[in-house]
Amino acid sequence: MISKTRKLLLILMMVLLSLAAIACDFDFGSLGVDDGEKTDTPDNPTGTTASIEAFQNHEKIISTPLDDELAFIQYGDGLPHFTDDDWNGGEYYIRLSDLDELGRVGVTQGLFDEAHFPDHERGSLSSVTPTGWKYNGKSNNHTYSFVSNGYIYNRCHTLAFSISSLEAEKRALITGTRFFNIEGNYAYEELILDHLKEMDGTNGEPMHQVLIKVTPDFHDDYLLCHGIVYEADCLQCDDIDFAVYMFNKQPGVTINYATGENWANESDMPEDPSTLLGATDYVYSSTGDKFHVPSCRYAEAINEDYRVEIKAPRSWMTDTLHLDPCGVCKP
Ligand SMILES: [Zn+2]
Ligand SMILES: [Zn+2]
Repeated sequence: MISKTRKLLLILMMVLLSLAAIACDFDFGSLGVDDGEKTDTPDNPTGTTASIEAFQNHEKIISTPLDDELAFIQYGDGLPHFTDDDWNGGEYYIRLSDLDELGRVGVTQGLFDEAHFPDHERGSLSSVTPTGWKYNGKSNNHTYSFVSNGYIYNRCHTLAFSISSLEAEKRALITGTRFFNIEGNYAYEELILDHLKEMDGTNGEPMHQVLIKVTPDFHDDYLLCHGIVYEADCLQCDDIDFAVYMFNKQPGVTINYATGENWANESDMPEDPSTLLGATDYVYSSTGDKFHVPSCRYAEAINEDYRVEIKAPRSWMTDTLHLDPCGVCKP
């Protein structure tokens, strides 16, 4: 089942990469990456042109339609542009940038091979709080019924643990959506991982080495990156050789990139929240900012004129109605 899903992802990716017409027209001037010859804005294979333009323009607030499946797009001419310095004379290395004054992750890169893969399970990443994870002391990591695994955000390695051995390293962890992590990042990590495993030096060929460079696309003083530029090239062969832009977005959700705050798209909200997964009885006052379980003494004290009884998931109360859980009944 898993390998079938992965195969589909890889096929989708190859189709995307092979569509010569898909060349993006982003202006990533501040990224310091040669984005090649500009072409006309492409026809969008999944009908999300408005979304691409929103990312191209680095709009602060972007709503991604629930049916949007476009996780990445060819970047520039689709090829990485590495310097001799990046290749490091063919020697294994990892180079991480210092966090900027806002605590944001910069360029991360390295030359990787099978000999340096981790020999242990990855530890917890929870000690790191990347920018955009919280805002004004409040977690932005809300749950949605339509997001796999529930939570919108994951701590995402710019350089995958399975390749780089990096663990709770704050210079290599960004706040990324579940969609970005699984549909974008993971698909490419697996492609490279599989290549390096296959070319591990035991099949009569020298061990292959892949250069990976990841440039987070942070705009202005925004805490959440709009996406990343992911470039990779194998030193010994042409099987790995690409530059893509992966969108940090979540279908069905509107994201404020300045703060990381997020909420369900108005257009994708169901009429009746009681039909959603995990719907529970809650009570709130239409003049207040808290919600309660029905048995809470503060719920019972709400004036009948303002009292609202609702059956909805907890995430509906916090993300859609923007209410805080009562500190007494802790709903
Ligand atoms: Zn290779
Ligand atoms: Zn209460």
